[in-house]
Amino acid sequence: MKKPFVTLEQLEKMTAEYPTPFHLYDERGIRENARRMKAAFAWNPGFKEYFAVKATPNPAILKILREEGCGTDCSSLTELMMSDRCGFTGSEIMFSSNDTPPEEFVLAAGLGATINLDDFTHIDFLKDTIGYIPETISCRFNPGGTFSIGASKEGFQVMDNPGDAKYGFTPAQLKEGFIKLKAMGAKRFGIHAFLASNTLSNEYYPTLAAILFKTAVELRDETGCDIKFINLSGGVGIPYHPDQPANDIAVIGEGVRKAFEEILVPAGMGDVSIFTELGRFMLGPYGCLVTRATHEKHTYKEYIGVDACAANLMRPAMYGAYHHITVMGKEDARCDHRYDVTGSLCENNDKFAVDRMLPRIDIGDLLVIHDTGAHGFSMGYNYNGRLRSAEILLKEDGSTALIRRAETPDDYFSTLVW
Ligand SMILES: *Cc1c(COP(=O)(O)O)cnc(C)c1O
Repeated sequence: MKKPFVTLEQLEKMTAEYPTPFHLYDERGIRENARRMKAAFAWNPGFKEYFAVKATPNPAILKILREEGCGTDCSSLTELMMSDRCGFTGSEIMFSSNDTPPEEFVLAAGLGATINLDDFTHIDFLKDTIGYIPETISCRFNPGGTFSIGASKEGFQVMDNPGDAKYGFTPAQLKEGFIKLKAMGAKRFGIHAFLASNTLSNEYYPTLAAILFKTAVELRDETGCDIKFINLSGGVGIPYHPDQPANDIAVIGEGVRKAFEEILVPAGMGDVSIFTELGRFMLGPYGCLVTRATHEKHTYKEYIGVDACAANLMRPAMYGAYHHITVMGKEDARCDHRYDVTGSLCENNDKFAVDRMLPRIDIGDLLVIHDTGAHGFSMGYNYNGRLRSAEILLKEDGSTALIRRAETPDDYFSTLVW
C-alpha cells in the first residue's frame, strides 16, 4: 500500500496556515533517494546526476539537490536562469534543449554550461549564434526504430518509439556531426540519448548504456574524437500504481557498471564519466498534492469535487495517468465507495480519479494525491482562470517552509494590457 509521507495531524497544522490545495515536498525523502542514486553509481568517479529542472522548478528543491551533489539539466532560458541563481555554475549545468531559441544558447554558453545539441543543423546554428564551438560539446543520439526490452521478471515491458520522436541525431548524422565539431574546435565529446519514458524495469538504463557504450567505441574509432561522458538522460520511472514494482537504483547502477566493464573498459575507455538527467525518479514520490473535498454530487455516477483541479496536476487529464489517492484519517477504512474525483475546470477530463474505489469521503476530508513531486506543479497552467497553488517543503526536522506562494488574481492579471 502507498503511505503518504505526512500524517493527518501534520496536515491539519499545515492547512491552518496554508489553504488547500498545495503541493508538498518531503526533504528527507528527496535527500535519501539522492544518496541512494549517488551510491549506485559511486563506482564511476566522474558520475553526476543533472536533475531535470522541468520536473520541479523550485529553488529550494534545486538547492537540496545541489547539496547532495547534483547538477541541473535545463532546456529553457528560465531554467538556466534559475540554475544560475541557485549557484550552479559551469559544468554543473547541462543544457539539453531542442528547437532552441538563439538567446538560450547564448546564456548557456555564457554560464559555461555543457551544451547537448539536439540536431545536426544546430552545429552551424550554435556557431553562428555564439561565434564559436565550445571545447566540450555533447550530441543527442536517436537510433530510430522501436526500442523495447522484453518483459522483465516483474512482467513489465518497456517499449517506446524513438523513430517517431523529434529528438536527436541519426547514427549517420552523429558520426558526421562529431567530425564536423572536431574540425570546428571541439575537444571533449559527450553522447546523450533518451529512448523511453517512465520505465519500470531495472534493465532500461543498462540496455541503453550498452547501446551508447558501443556507439561511443565506434565513434571514437571512426572519428578519433575524445569521448569524455555518456549521458543516460531521464526515463527511470516510479510506481504510480501501488501494484507496480519500484525500480531498484542499486541494481540499475550495477547493471550499468557491468556494461561499462564489458564494453568501454576493454576499448580503453574506462575513464568515461556517466551522467544522468533524472527528473521523475529524483522527485516524483517525494511530492504530493494536498486537496480538500468540497462537494459531492450524485447523478449517473458518484462524484467528489475537490479544491484542486487539472491546473494543479495535469497528468491525469493529459495522459489518463494514475495517481494514487489517500483519504487522510481513513487509511484503514474499507474502499467500498466508487467515485470520480473531480476538479472544477469546464473540461470533463478534469478528473483525478475515475471509478476509483475509496473509503466514504465526507466534505472537508483531506485527500493526498500521491507522486506529484515531478511533472506535477510544473505542468500547471491557468486555464479557466484557475490559479497555481503554493508549494510547501516539509523539512527534515518536521517544520514546514513556504517555497512558492500561491498565485493571486493580481498575478493572473499582471500580463494583461487593458
Ligand atoms: C524530461 C527530460 C528529462 C527527465 O525525464 P524524467 O522522465 O523525468 O526522468 C531528462 N532529460 C531530458 C532532455 C528531458 O527532456
